[in-house]
This record gives sequence, structure tokens and C-alpha cells, in this order.
Amino acid sequence: MKKQECIECGDRLVGRQDKKFCSDNCRSQYNNRLNSDQSKFVRNINNVLRRNYRILQRLNPQGKSKVSRDDLVALGFNFRYFTNEYVTKAGKVYRFCYNQGYLSLEENYFAIVERKDYVL
Ligand SMILES: [Zn+2]
Repeated sequence: MKKQECIECGDRLVGRQDKKFCSDNCRSQYNNRLNSDQSKFVRNINNVLRRNYRILQRLNPQGKSKVSRDDLVALGFNFRYFTNEYVTKAGKVYRFCYNQGYLSLEENYFAIVERKDYVL
């Protein structure tokens, strides 16, 4: 049978088979670390989204514009993260960072649009 150890400190566990921690202290240390890793993950993604949003906003002061992929990349735009997608009846896919959206056009260009209304 496998030796049971505390998953936080590695101390030998005594008692119930389903125990994972040797003490409440280890349990809360473990959970705190897990939570802070998770909030770091969320924070990093929020930062990417916010940066994307600021870039789109800056390139789109009139609420409608056309930019090249290079312009976006040069400013640090990250195409992997966006908040939502909007598919038109014609099948065009707009990707949004909050209310700033972009649509891939031909030849590495993008249309940027601003949405006034909030859509669920
Ligand atoms: Zn422990």
C-alpha cells in the first residue's frame, strides 16, 4: 500500500485514508497558494485583454477604422485573447475586446469597429 503523505509538507499522515493534509495549517497554506496562482493567471489574462482594448481604442478614435496586422503586432496586440465573438448573418466573425471589435479583412488588414450596445 502507498505511504500516505501530506500533500503540502510531505509529512507522514496518520488516521483516515482519505486525509490529504497533516494539519489545518497545511490545508490553508496549500489552498492559499492555489488561490494566488489562480488569481495570477486571471490577472495576466486581464492585462492582455486590457492592453488589446487600449490598442484598439487608440487605433480607432472615430469608432471605425482599418489597420494592418503589423500595426497591431507592433503595439503588442495579442490575437489569442478576446472577450467575445460576434458572427454576422453573412458569417463574418468579429472578435471583441470589450466594446472594441476587429474583423479580419483581405491582405492582413483588419477593420476595427466600436459597439455602442452591450450584447449578452
Ligand atoms: Zn503537512
